[in-house]
Amino acid sequence: MNQPTFDHYQHAREQMIRTQLVRRGIHDERVLDAMRTVPRELFVPPAAEWRAYEDCALPISCSQTISQPYMVASMTELLELKPGDRVLEVGTGSGYQAAVLAQLAERVYTIERHPRLLEAARTLLVRQLGYANIRFRCGDGTRGWRRAGPFDAIVVTAGGPRVPPALATQLSPNGRLIVPVGARDQQTLVRVRRLAHGFEQHSLYGCRFVQLCGEDGW
Ligand code: SAM
Repeated sequence: MNQPTFDHYQHAREQMIRTQLVRRGIHDERVLDAMRTVPRELFVPPAAEWRAYEDCALPISCSQTISQPYMVASMTELLELKPGDRVLEVGTGSGYQAAVLAQLAERVYTIERHPRLLEAARTLLVRQLGYANIRFRCGDGTRGWRRAGPFDAIVVTAGGPRVPPALATQLSPNGRLIVPVGARDQQTLVRVRRLAHGFEQHSLYGCRFVQLCGEDGW
């Protein structure tokens, strides 16, 4: 079989945007452009490269997953990112969502508990793709990254039993936190917004993520 070409993946990306994202209601042009720019095929294991643009999550190492393209786009849109924003991501995984966020925000801070995943993502994002606005940390992301905060936006890409309180307190005023909350095998996507006094919280839609581990996880 011939190796897929650059043009092949560009075509697959455009098709993903049309059929998986726009058709399901993702309309923020900046988000669509970011999804158009990041080469998802580099973030999946080589043996699964040909499946990179399928409408599903795919396995990566350490028994984890790269999220479904629609979930990445939807969570990114819900963060309402502006060019000067500082964003925290909990769950680096393959680094794909961090790359999408880095297209839209001033700086991205990303935390992963598996050292092997973190180092692979760092190598790909910094050395291979040249992202200079992403900072990496290995550890329990449910505690946040206090010294780097406050954050305009926080996204958690694994599902836990509750909203981690440390993350809510690391939001800046009007900051947005997107986090899947619920049971181990099924969650609801929740958006928390920091108000002048307190927080408002909305449940958005059902979703299914790998488990959020750690002090405020499972
Ligand atoms: N954002 C990722 C991507 O684009 O590939 C998807 C990541 S995967 C669905 C969720 C990740 O969260 C896994 O890599 C897992 O190891 C990580 N994770 C789970 N609990 C964590 C925690 N407490 N702190 C940091 N990372 C965690």
